[in-house]
Amino acid sequence: MENLRVDGQRLWDSLMEMAKIGATPKGGVCRLTLTDLDKQSRDLFISWCEEAGCRIAVDPVGNIFARRPGRNNKLPPILTGSHLDSQPTGGKFDGAYGVLAGLEVLRTLNEGAVETEAPVEVVVWTNEEGSRYAPAMMGSGVFTGLFTLEDTYAAEDVDGVSFGEALERIGYKGDPVGKPDIGAYFEAHIEQGPILEAEGRTIGVVTGAQGQRWYEVTLTGMEAHAGPTPMARRKDALVGAAEVVRTVNRIGHDFQPDACATVGMMQVHPNSRNVIPGRVFLTIDFRHPDDARLAEMDATLRRELTAIADAAKLELDLKQILDFAATPFDPDCVDAVRKGAERFGYSHRDIISGAGHDAVYVAKIAPAGMIFVPCEDGISHNEIENATREDLAAGCQVLLQAVLDRAGAR
Ligand SMILES: [Zn+2]
Repeated sequence: MENLRVDGQRLWDSLMEMAKIGATPKGGVCRLTLTDLDKQSRDLFISWCEEAGCRIAVDPVGNIFARRPGRNNKLPPILTGSHLDSQPTGGKFDGAYGVLAGLEVLRTLNEGAVETEAPVEVVVWTNEEGSRYAPAMMGSGVFTGLFTLEDTYAAEDVDGVSFGEALERIGYKGDPVGKPDIGAYFEAHIEQGPILEAEGRTIGVVTGAQGQRWYEVTLTGMEAHAGPTPMARRKDALVGAAEVVRTVNRIGHDFQPDACATVGMMQVHPNSRNVIPGRVFLTIDFRHPDDARLAEMDATLRRELTAIADAAKLELDLKQILDFAATPFDPDCVDAVRKGAERFGYSHRDIISGAGHDAVYVAKIAPAGMIFVPCEDGISHNEIENATREDLAAGCQVLLQAVLDRAGAR
């Protein structure tokens, strides 16, 4: 057990083989959920797991579970995995790394003839990306009871094809697998941010995920002719919106370290060059790992937006549409990851996940943890997404150690 080492080259080769499915000319992948390409990637994963001696189960939302039995199969399994779907201009590593690192763990256990106490399962979650069907993380959301199967089946893509139809068409509508009972869940993932690379560290010990609050704002003034209307008489909704953008950005800076604040979308009405804008719709995305700080950001936003609207003689409609509490990961799982990194001498640091991941949903029902590895320039959701063979192997080695730690092995 002491000398059990994952095969970094085999992991890399599997990643490159998987990346051929939906490969784009710029070196990325386009593998939208529940498409023929998604089916191909699932089929390939299953064929590899069957070669590794696993039993396969598919649940009603299309999540795939590949099980390697343990000595005591009454124990809840130790789960690891991620997703195989991608953004339209996605990279080779987002999601696929976590799935194939899980597979590499199973292959390494097989090679070492290691018998774990608890069974080990590699899971592929359906529609993590939320690109073809919203919201994101549907598979883990249904699995953990956050979303209903009914709502999920009814979701439609832009062509009006329902999730249920698409799932059935690719043959991955499975049977109920019973109440989820999980010993622990670990997910390996590229960081999708620049911190590890900038600090020259190999392993991110993920301690939790940020809380998020999303808002929709409508500012209403009055349309008027851009020529005859004197400046003093205007109710220009876009001028108010510009203040809102600056304020949101300033709140992000004021709540450092760790806060993120973004206006990502804006619609100007009537959007005509010689009409004073009468109405602006915009979205705000606030994130912070500490719920108390997030609540302060919220209070600041409400106070300042009211003041902006008053000063600009605008009507303000501020709706909060998402309130996602910060999710700390299980201390024992976090510890297992940290110990794994230390044991193999990998440089590491604690890190908060800025993005959503299936692990965040699983953390609601089971002990969960995540392992981050650096990615080039912190770029992800982009075809040029890249990571090194060595870092990916190191993350996988830590994953193996964490799984063994929780599954128990002789
Ligand atoms: Zn991902």
